[in-house]
Amino acid sequence: LLMPVITVDGPSGSGKGTVCRLLAEKLGWDVLDSGAIYRVLSLAALHHQIALDNEDALVPLAANLDVQFLVDSQTNAAKVVLEGEDVTTTIRNEEVGAAASKVAALPRVREALLRRQRAFRTERGLIADGRDMGTVVFKDAPLKIFLTASAQERAKRRFVELNARGLNVTLSGLLKDIQERDDRDMNRAVAPLVPAEDAIELDTSELNAQQVYDKVLTLLDTAI
Ligand code: C5P
Repeated sequence: LLMPVITVDGPSGSGKGTVCRLLAEKLGWDVLDSGAIYRVLSLAALHHQIALDNEDALVPLAANLDVQFLVDSQTNAAKVVLEGEDVTTTIRNEEVGAAASKVAALPRVREALLRRQRAFRTERGLIADGRDMGTVVFKDAPLKIFLTASAQERAKRRFVELNARGLNVTLSGLLKDIQERDDRDMNRAVAPLVPAEDAIELDTSELNAQQVYDKVLTLLDTAI
């Protein structure tokens, strides 16, 4: 029996991560952070000195990627382990995000990761966070949400977040990074960042995390 999936797609900084976490907590469902898979893959490519455009070498790397997504039983925090190494914080770097969007543009790499992503659907329901969750990976999801926010607002959110972590970043630098990554994600040939036909779009520019979550809850009531 296939359990229901709620897909949450959108560009980076649109608030997907927070909404997905809150939804999963409320429903007791699992979360698929598909972006983390692309991030881990790009990191593995770096470790193995494989160029980010070498599709022939990246496909087997993707198919055999030795990655574990764990949840700390004490703190409930997600932990990502690549080839035995804890990469939870490393994969959050801006450079890794940019590298991820390069490997993510390769059609056969995406194909090689499909089964791994679909395997996250188990006895519990699943909240799937990404770019193509509603358009490709879980087309049959009963509720598809597409979050957007202006690039300016997303850069601001990222700035606040990274500053709080003590990182030395500039707003203009982050805005440029975001625009470059958006451009790559929206204009690639395969699984570009677009809302599914049956997705409900929500602009979060003027909303805080709680308000976004509240809106999604009302959608959930009618959909599932
Ligand atoms: O969501 P996150 O910022 O972690 O994703 C990193 C990159 O991985 C994105 O910029 C995008 O290029 C790619 N990605 C993707 N498809 C997904 C999730 C992420 O192409 N479902």
